[in-house]
Formats: sequence, structure tokens, C-alpha cells
Amino acid sequence: MTDDMPVSPLHQDNYAFFFDLDGTLAEIKPTPEQVVIPSSVLHTLHALAEYSNGALALVSGRAVSELDNLLAPLTLPLAGVHGAERRDSLGQVHRITLPTGMLQALKERLTIAMSVFPGSKLESKGIAFALHYRQVPEYQQDILILAESLCHAYPQLMLQPGKCVVELKPHGVDKGTAIGAFMQEHPFSGRIPVFIGDDLTDEAGFHQVNTLNGLSIKVGPGETAAHFRLNNVAAVHQWLKQQQHRCTSNIGKEKGL
Ligand SMILES: [Mg+2]
Repeated sequence: MTDDMPVSPLHQDNYAFFFDLDGTLAEIKPTPEQVVIPSSVLHTLHALAEYSNGALALVSGRAVSELDNLLAPLTLPLAGVHGAERRDSLGQVHRITLPTGMLQALKERLTIAMSVFPGSKLESKGIAFALHYRQVPEYQQDILILAESLCHAYPQLMLQPGKCVVELKPHGVDKGTAIGAFMQEHPFSGRIPVFIGDDLTDEAGFHQVNTLNGLSIKVGPGETAAHFRLNNVAAVHQWLKQQQHRCTSNIGKEKGL
């Protein structure tokens, strides 16, 4: 479904918030290392997390350790590597594992194979590998064929295409499963899930929140399962501000102000 309706401020108090990071909370940059979350957005995330009793998590393709660095000084529940690692609201980490020998052999094969595409970048995430071609889009097809052949060789893995990247991740891992796991746990359970994301990896998350009668919001153009759309990262920031304002005014009402 592609519904171009603008997303109005939320009207209830029992939401659980899930956000992608790159291309959603933060602008995409030429390299992932250049990405920053504006301090005003961190402030708003903190306010929303407090207001929702901690029911706010990031669900990203990045590793949990990277997410922590980008969110500092905030510490939030996180799903990293598309859900292959997940830190719940109690701080407990749930991690999918794959045989170390297999991962090492795959890394060696990938390092050699990617070296013939100058300007491409192989990123090891421990249990997943990202094959970046943002600087050299002319290699997109070659890199996709390489990733497909390795998925064929390693059936424990599956492809995860994204913006100027294709990833090899553990089979069965996706953002929808991660959101579903959070929604089984306090403080998320019983709340209405809201998920905002911008890329193909977020579609599984949109399907999940749709199933849970939540609010799915796609950032930017493109076919999507999401029910709503925000045009760009700036629109996400504006939407977040609206939610913060709504929370602040609700707290004022509760206090009789
Ligand atoms: Mg993204």
C-alpha cells in the first residue's frame, strides 16, 4: 500500500516507538562513519522514551555497539544487524550465532572477491557482511551477483538489499521479527507500535506493525507496505517534535497546568 497522506500527530498515550536510523533519524552520508544524529533529535528521543515508559527502540542494520556510539549519552533498547542482535529493555542481549569457522571462511572469500571492485567497501558486522557500492554504483550488478552466489554457497545466509548496499545476514533475521520480540516484552507489550523507516529492510517491520494494528511510516519515495509516508529526514524530525510537544502538553494536563 502506498498512501501519501501526511502523518498527523498521534492521539493516544500508549504507543511503542521503533525507529530506523540511517535515512530516517539521520541523513545518509557518503560513508556510514560520517553519519550523526542531531543533538536536538537525541533530546526528543529521550523525551519520547521517558513519556512512553521506555517503550522506544532503534531497529537498524548497524551493530548495537555502533548504535550506542551514535546515541550517546542515551542508552536505549536496540535491535542491530537487522535484528540478529537485540538488547531488550532490561539490557539483556539476544544474539543469533553462526559457526565461527564459516564466518571466517566467508570473510576471506568476500575480501578477495570485493578487491576486484575498487571503491567498493566490505563491512564485517561479525554475523553479517555489508557490501557497499555507494562510491561505485557501476558495480551494483556485479556485487549483487557475487552476494547471490555466496548466499547459494552458504544456505545459513540470506540477502538483504538496501540503498547502495547488499548484505549477507543470517537466515530468518529481519526487522519485523525484532519488533515482534520487543512487543512481547515489557514495557512494549500492550502498546500500539509505531515504526518509521526508509529502506527495503524496513518493509518486514512495516508488515509486522500492520499485523499488530500499529502505525507504519515510510520515509521518502518508493513502493512500500507502510500505510503512511514522510517525505524525508527533515519531515521525520518535524514529526518527532510534534510528538514531543504532544507529550509535554499531556504532562501539563495531568498536572493540571
Ligand atoms: Mg535506513
